Amino acid sequence: MQRLPLPVIALIGTGGTIAATAASSTEVTDYTVTEPVNALLHAVPQITAVASIRAQQAFNVDSREITSAMLLRLARLVRRTLAQSDIDGVVITHGTDTLEETAYFLSLVVQSEKPVVLVGAMRPASAISADGPLNLLNAVLVATTPAARGMGVVVTLNDEIHAARYVSKANTTRLDAFSSGNQGALGAIHNGIVQFDQLPARGWPLAGSPDGGFDLTGLRQLPRVDILYDHQDAGRHLYEASIKAGVQGLVVAACGDGGLTPKAVQGLRLAAKHGIVCVRASRTGSGIVSGALHDTRYNWVSANSLNPQKARILLMLALTRTTDRRTIQAWFDHR
Ligand code: ASP
Repeated sequence: MQRLPLPVIALIGTGGTIAATAASSTEVTDYTVTEPVNALLHAVPQITAVASIRAQQAFNVDSREITSAMLLRLARLVRRTLAQSDIDGVVITHGTDTLEETAYFLSLVVQSEKPVVLVGAMRPASAISADGPLNLLNAVLVATTPAARGMGVVVTLNDEIHAARYVSKANTTRLDAFSSGNQGALGAIHNGIVQFDQLPARGWPLAGSPDGGFDLTGLRQLPRVDILYDHQDAGRHLYEASIKAGVQGLVVAACGDGGLTPKAVQGLRLAAKHGIVCVRASRTGSGIVSGALHDTRYNWVSANSLNPQKARILLMLALTRTTDRRTIQAWFDHR
């Protein structure tokens, strides 16, 4: 009987706990990124039955070390890889701490029907019961599944599939650290079977239309955007410091549904006067920030349901195109 050729998956390594080792097999929090992506593959020989893998290393760092310049490089690599006609999908290994930022960034700049799957691990590769190997096998399974085509960028960990737009790391160390909040997971990988239960309501393909999404052509760096955290008795000195540092955008992790303390109001008004685009997100972790009259008055934007770290990603990309409040607000309301 003739065997069908296996799907071809590009595996791009970027580092993270999935590529880290510790001094002992029981140490699960103190570790260092040491393993190249090829070594991760050796731990999962089962993958050879699922896909033909082309591995490459983008970089090999803890995800807290990822800069905007590295994001741009990674996005270009993913776009070039997806453009190859013999590649069926892309899997990216990544640290979990900032995984949601990279996933959301890629979802806004990569327009392809082909699956793009980000995967990490909560325990290092050297740990007893490391979760990386099964997470990686699951990610490759998702990338080879026809139902994953057109789903945009997704994240798989702990047997779940999440949309880049909604997923967030919501626990420090547990294996079920990733959650899509009210939206819920897109699907699951159950005993080697990939099952989608819902479609992503936002992100791709909206990112690709009607205005073509965000184009990286000629872009050498992303605008500087800071995140400030509001709290009782906050001062305005952090806003002043950001203004002085020359940021182009500010995201505030505001209270409740986007409410600001008095000094935060002053800080954001001052920032807006300096031409800085200011976005109100929420520090609560879920829900929609209410649009408010003072947004129009002071030229602020509300983040809709994007958390502060994702609001920063969208604002950086938005600022590569415009500083017009209404246009940026429309992107926050629809992406
Ligand atoms: N420190 C790690 C990182 O690279 C955490 C992880 O991967 O789980 O983000």
